Amino acid sequence: MATAVKPDIKLEPSPNPFEVAQQQLDEAAELLELDTAIHHLLRWPLRELHVTLPVRMDDGSTKIFHGFRVQYNDARGPTKGGIRFHPDETIDTVRALAAWMTWKTAVVDIPLGGAKGGVICNPKELSDGELERLSRAYIRQVGRMLGLKKDIPAPDVYTTPQIMAWMADEYAFMKGYNEFGVITGKPLALGGSAGREDATARGGIYCLREAGKILDIQLDGATTAIQGYGNAGSFAHKLGAELVGLKVVAVSDSRGGIYSKDGLNYSDVLAHKQNTGSVIDLPGTEAITNDALLELDVTVSIPAALESVCTVRNAADIPAKIIVELANGPTTPEADKILYKAGTYVIPDFVCNAGGVTVSYFEMVQNAYNYYWTEQLVHERLDEKMTAAFHAVHDVAQVYNVHNRLAAYLVAVNRVAEAVKLRGWVA
Ligand code: NAD
Repeated sequence: MATAVKPDIKLEPSPNPFEVAQQQLDEAAELLELDTAIHHLLRWPLRELHVTLPVRMDDGSTKIFHGFRVQYNDARGPTKGGIRFHPDETIDTVRALAAWMTWKTAVVDIPLGGAKGGVICNPKELSDGELERLSRAYIRQVGRMLGLKKDIPAPDVYTTPQIMAWMADEYAFMKGYNEFGVITGKPLALGGSAGREDATARGGIYCLREAGKILDIQLDGATTAIQGYGNAGSFAHKLGAELVGLKVVAVSDSRGGIYSKDGLNYSDVLAHKQNTGSVIDLPGTEAITNDALLELDVTVSIPAALESVCTVRNAADIPAKIIVELANGPTTPEADKILYKAGTYVIPDFVCNAGGVTVSYFEMVQNAYNYYWTEQLVHERLDEKMTAAFHAVHDVAQVYNVHNRLAAYLVAVNRVAEAVKLRGWVA
């Protein structure tokens, strides 16, 4: 009897992140009394491509991978969004992330739309050679819908500047000339921007600084827990301590977490993660699970890993005063309501983590005129954008008497809807 082939495309996780994104939009549309056709248009991606990628493995076999690129909405400009390599990737995750990119570029008011890409794979199980061949295979398929004036990818979970460099190189071969601006988050030697590496965390910490002022919460010495210790989470540790004086007492990654009531030193955790591949088992710390980390009695909680970690199941048990959402989609709509009622100040994902795309946009601008800014200038311009976006959202939340995420939707959806209308897409 033939054995069944194990499905390699997973069903949507629960809760389905795209349904969450649509539900969030629906709430904003109702409050804005949005035109019905515009509302329906904004509920769906304009375009999406599903690709199948044969990749030669080191042992000589060929493995088939599946990937996606979703261009959600380009009413305000070319679409932009990262590429995620993750074993649990689904088309609905990519759709949700592409929708959030649309709202993110609008809320920080940069002239771009939203997109996202992904490949179902576990990069930890791939050699460098296999990872390079997979990255190039993805661009050979998806490259046809990319372009400086069409769609510009960037890194996301488990994709790195090196992967962006391979992708930019493959794209250059397809075009017959270098067009580095088509991918951002590249290494500095290939037209990357100063300040891109820590931009997501830096933008989030700028927002936290503003929230601290508004709420009159002393951030210097404020206890903090960070879930996820990759690009966003590890730089949040470093910059949170450096810029506002946070005392980080717990951090975690996919293998678990660590806790120390006296605070965790950034250099020690980073060195341990670099040496062992994980934050767990750092000498002098206690073990803590990822679930327990979110329920720690801290002033600031920073989810910086994956979506839907704060749900109706645990929202009431999260005591933090401020939640700094560096991850995309960490909080479900039901959890939002519980947190709002409890008086928790949530800095919503597509505002809080918009620093990455903002500096990616700066990278595109610098690539376009082939002249590069200092790190100091990048920081100043990022601060200006993030501070303006934070206050625009905070002010709307006060006017409408709604939670910050809904306020962020009101700001962003209004801007995208205006562009849709001006372009005459909807009568
Ligand atoms: P990354 O690949 O650098 O790091 C991801 C981290 O999350 C790793 O430490 C990993 O171990 C950890 N992780 C994975 N699964 C986990 C789990 N189940 N529980 C706890 N930790 C887990 O990715 P990143 O770039 O830091 O992205 C993290 C989040 O930030 C994602 O939601 C991403 O979409 C969002 N984000 C990143 C950027 C950026 O510029 N890097 C920009 C905007 C948003």
